[in-house]
Amino acid sequence: MSFACPVCRFPGLEEAPYDEHGCASFDICPCCGTQFGYDDATTGHSELRARWIAGGKRWWSEKGPPADWGAETQLAQIGE
Ligand SMILES: [Zn+2]
Repeated sequence: MSFACPVCRFPGLEEAPYDEHGCASFDICPCCGTQFGYDDATTGHSELRARWIAGGKRWWSEKGPPADWGAETQLAQIGE
């Protein structure tokens, strides 16, 4: 089971960013670097996404992205 990031739509999060009660996981998205419950407590997801895009859509984690990762593919899933 994996979950999508509400900011960048990276689909490989190991934990849900928010559980059914609305509690944040406090995990950090390896793609955009958003910490759920912290970064998005003061800044909306669409604003965080806009910043990530403006910053060049870079992969955040030192571990590096999956072989099939592509920011454009991910962003195409955002229907906003
Ligand atoms: Zn993300």
